[in-house]
Amino acid sequence: MIIIQMKRTTTEADLNQVMDVLTTYKAASRLVRLGDKHIIVAELNDAYRLQDVQRVASVEHVVHVSVPYPLVSRQWQANNSSVYINGVTIGGDDKPIVIAGPCSVETETQMQQSAKAVQFSGAHILRGGAYKPRTNPYSFQGLGVEGLQMLKEAGDNVGLPVITEVMSPDAVDVVSEYADILQIGTRNMANFDLLRAVGQSERPVLLKRGMAATVAEWLQAAEYIVSSGNPNVILCERGIRSFDSATRNTLDLAAAVLAKEKSHLPVIVDPSHATGVVSLIGPMARAAIAAGLDGVCVEMHPSPHEAWCDGEQALTPEQLNGIVSDVQTMGAFLTERTLKTPQIVMNSR
Ligand code: PEP
Ligand code: MN
Repeated sequence: MIIIQMKRTTTEADLNQVMDVLTTYKAASRLVRLGDKHIIVAELNDAYRLQDVQRVASVEHVVHVSVPYPLVSRQWQANNSSVYINGVTIGGDDKPIVIAGPCSVETETQMQQSAKAVQFSGAHILRGGAYKPRTNPYSFQGLGVEGLQMLKEAGDNVGLPVITEVMSPDAVDVVSEYADILQIGTRNMANFDLLRAVGQSERPVLLKRGMAATVAEWLQAAEYIVSSGNPNVILCERGIRSFDSATRNTLDLAAAVLAKEKSHLPVIVDPSHATGVVSLIGPMARAAIAAGLDGVCVEMHPSPHEAWCDGEQALTPEQLNGIVSDVQTMGAFLTERTLKTPQIVMNSR
């Protein structure tokens, strides 16, 4: 595949000229607008025909990419990209972040208490589901718009951005009104209409890995979002299906690191859904940060035994404090190590 980056001065006529060349060669192509950048992604590997594209004056440069997820791949962008949300930066070379909060929004009191606990812990973003993808149709399905309002109000009260799941293309607008980040859950990773819809939204997107998805499928899901015009995607590994029911899922940490190697997007880990076991969440959060990932997303409830959903894996506020502190310590250690490494190399000459 090739990525054609057009010059900033590109006009509609210039774009049409390139598209005409591609059409002549029957090369499937797609125009992508990312901010003020015009990019054309095309299936054209023939060097001779490529010259015709490169000859068009408004083409800035052409990059060959050997993976089916060109725009999210490091072959296109070597440096880590970062996503900025109301004062919080995820990815880039920034310190790791923590997203925390209950599985679902239940009541105003529960959300206010959760927000205070999350803010007190030093975590950066408040979570809470208003639309819940439940396995059983009789389980609590979330409070919908009322839940979105409670989540936003709780976040505003403590000055934290909020993230919540969106399950259908129709709901993208209303969820975007209240949420700072849109979450795509594991069950919807391959809902391509939904990926396209969040790709047209202005909000950053947290894309969870499908519980049975390969790394390449996960990255192609991210490509759906970016190629629809939204470059602000964060990947989240949340455990995959495996044979052992001792843990809820199997945390595939190597896949998360591999995704970060293959892609420039920020990658975080959700050790709550990956393990389903409270005692394993802290160790797995530390492991994720030690592996060089960009943060964690954990479930916390002010009173776990009263939670309407996923109470068995909910951290207490005190347990959350410990995890945030560990993530910060581990993040600082790694930053220091990265800063020191070049000096050690130079001194040892
Ligand atoms: C969640 O984060 O609340 C959730 C439902 O997660 P997942 O999609 O990973 O199961
Ligand atoms: Mn949950």
